[in-house]
Amino acid sequence: MTLATIRDRIAAACTRAGRPPESVTLIAVSKEQPHDRVAAVLDTGHRIFGENRVQEAQGKWPDWKARYPGVQLHLLGPLQTNKARAAFGLFDAIHSVDRPKLVTTLARLADEAGRCPALFVQVNTGAEPQKAGIMPDDAEALVAAVRSAGLPLAGLMCIPPFDEDPAPHFRLLAELAARNGLSGLSMGMSDDFETAIACGATHVRVGSAIFGARGG
Ligand SMILES: *Cc1c(COP(=O)(O)O)cnc(C)c1O
Repeated sequence: MTLATIRDRIAAACTRAGRPPESVTLIAVSKEQPHDRVAAVLDTGHRIFGENRVQEAQGKWPDWKARYPGVQLHLLGPLQTNKARAAFGLFDAIHSVDRPKLVTTLARLADEAGRCPALFVQVNTGAEPQKAGIMPDDAEALVAAVRSAGLPLAGLMCIPPFDEDPAPHFRLLAELAARNGLSGLSMGMSDDFETAIACGATHVRVGSAIFGARGG
């Protein structure tokens, strides 16, 4: 599939949901993709990309950022505290804020830098033990912690359990966001971004449907 096809599908999903197409930001997830595929998407003019790992992103994006002005980079994967400084320097948004200690570290870095990437609190909507994200019951407290630290909170993010209908998870995230006065909803991937848009997604994270299977 191509980026244009995904854009068309996003626009159609928006129309069905009675939403303007500009209400959804498409994050092209370039993790583990061969460089020529990413360069091809950059050449079409797309500038919003997502990566899972700080180290992998550090290896390729400084160069691309220099060559393609206006790149906006989103960190989607778990962030270790000791990588927070590096993430701060490279990313425009962090979708994986999931614990108080990370908020404390980000607040200190924001203080030093005088700026901070846009933050999303990641919620483990399926309460899966092995998965990143704050448990739904603890999400409001973490949202409050981000706010009281004075950090820019854009919204909430989730990755539904692999083997379940994602819609109830998307709806849970949307409810949590509404209850907390948050407008940003980072949800929906290659297999379910249209469902996510129907549930209110503002940021969809699409990788393989744009670039093809990873590592190819
Ligand atoms: C890899 C990844 C994506 C993209 O997944 P696809 O199924 O390839 O679209 C989206 N979000 C996160 C958090 C990811 O790790």
